[in-house]
Amino acid sequence: MAIDSMVAGVRAPDLEADDGLTRDTPGRATPGRATPGRAKLGTDTAELQRLDAAHYLHPFTDHGALRDQGARVMVRGDGIYLWDSEGHRIIDGMSGLWCVNVGYGRASIVDAAARQMTALPFYNSFFNTTNVPAVRLAARLAALAPEHFRHVFFTSSGSEANDTAVRMAWRYWQLMGQPQRQAIISRRNAYHGSTIAGASLGGMAGMHAQGALPIPGIHHIEQPHFVELGRGMSEAEFGLKAARWLEEKILELGPEHVAAFIGEPVQGAGGVIIPPRTYWPEIQRICDRYGILLISDEVICGFGRLGAWFGCELMGMRPDLIPFAKGVTSGYVPLGGVLVSDRVADALVEKGGDFNHGFTYSGHPVACAAALENLRILVEEGVIDKVAQETGPYLKAAFGALASHPLVGHAESLGMAAGLNLVRRKGATVHDCEPFARELGVGMLCRGHMFDNGVIMRAVGDRMIVAPPLVITCAEIDEMVGRIRACLDLTLSDVQRRGWLG
Ligand code: PMP
Repeated sequence: MAIDSMVAGVRAPDLEADDGLTRDTPGRATPGRATPGRAKLGTDTAELQRLDAAHYLHPFTDHGALRDQGARVMVRGDGIYLWDSEGHRIIDGMSGLWCVNVGYGRASIVDAAARQMTALPFYNSFFNTTNVPAVRLAARLAALAPEHFRHVFFTSSGSEANDTAVRMAWRYWQLMGQPQRQAIISRRNAYHGSTIAGASLGGMAGMHAQGALPIPGIHHIEQPHFVELGRGMSEAEFGLKAARWLEEKILELGPEHVAAFIGEPVQGAGGVIIPPRTYWPEIQRICDRYGILLISDEVICGFGRLGAWFGCELMGMRPDLIPFAKGVTSGYVPLGGVLVSDRVADALVEKGGDFNHGFTYSGHPVACAAALENLRILVEEGVIDKVAQETGPYLKAAFGALASHPLVGHAESLGMAAGLNLVRRKGATVHDCEPFARELGVGMLCRGHMFDNGVIMRAVGDRMIVAPPLVITCAEIDEMVGRIRACLDLTLSDVQRRGWLG
């Protein structure tokens, strides 16, 4: 089979097909191992790797190192599993990139996109025109969002969504007669995208260092990371303290200059940092007190990741803008946007005149058609309720039990997002654990074992994180966590052999 037809053949794969995979039980492929000497899914891995190294600059990648190592070529997916061009079956513990919420191989999403492509592959929404899926999706999102949201602005990515939120916040304050309100406050170790505004909003020093970022007017406070910053406090006390860093920053800048505060309900790329319960209600109180807009970046947390449609609903906040992307289409087609609360939408619609902002692909009909079908699946299969009531608690118990491993200082999860800290020496509390020296790269070592043994887990320094598709079953969680434990053992042997343990 040629690679194009395989990539196009997203239909749930026939596991009985002659696809070069070893099976341990009927219909089940053996993870992490190809059958020697059998067909390799029709792809020439070496040739693809050569072309990849010669022509393809990957995102967030050391291009030289990748050229030497060769990229892993992914060719198909089904449910929570991926297959690479060598026939290895891998549990996708990261849902692609936090997005394939309904899992791979959903033929009905493919069909919805194909039908729309046939009818009308594209038309813009600029010249007082619209299209059927965009209208229907806007109405659908308004019905799913918290009650005070009735409008949506579409983009194609999370970064564009955050750029849009910033431009909207500035425009809102102009329309309210307070154009000097331009400062946006964000947090260290936040991730809000890779465009210039997105990278500026993010609190990633490594991104800021590669250009003149952040752009003026964007300010950062510390993150609500209890393990890193909460020594000597209860979680509840720390949550209040972390929220009050916002108040201090507002007072430092002058409330009359502050437009908005932006945060992810749970920081994703920063390492699945779950804030104390006291944090977001206090942030809300502070935003209300000074009248500043609250932006809940739900690019990861939206569409069920935490066991609710939107993370803000769980966290006890009432945002004014909700940037989203990823899970709205489960990543099948790029789509993002901003849910706009009545507070902001009323200003834009009633007082606004032209809002000079938008993208060619805002409201792309194919992306919106895919999103509608994805949302139908989430609703009709009760996917999010299942995460809230069954699989989320199951993951919490199974993943939390990894804390007994000698390398793990702390393990936690919320919904379908989980993280654990690899430590050199365990302590009586999370604050007494001794970390590894960062430059040893223990997290990357561990990630390598995971990948080689059939599970994708991401390393953020020495914090290992997973965020599997929301459709993962309890049995699959057992398989994933079992694999993670085995790879923690391999990592432990490595660090012992290298003499890195205390
Ligand atoms: N916001 C958050 C919270 C994200 O996690 C991401 C991507 N991981 C983005 C924004 C940017 O989204 P995109 O990569 O689609 O631009």
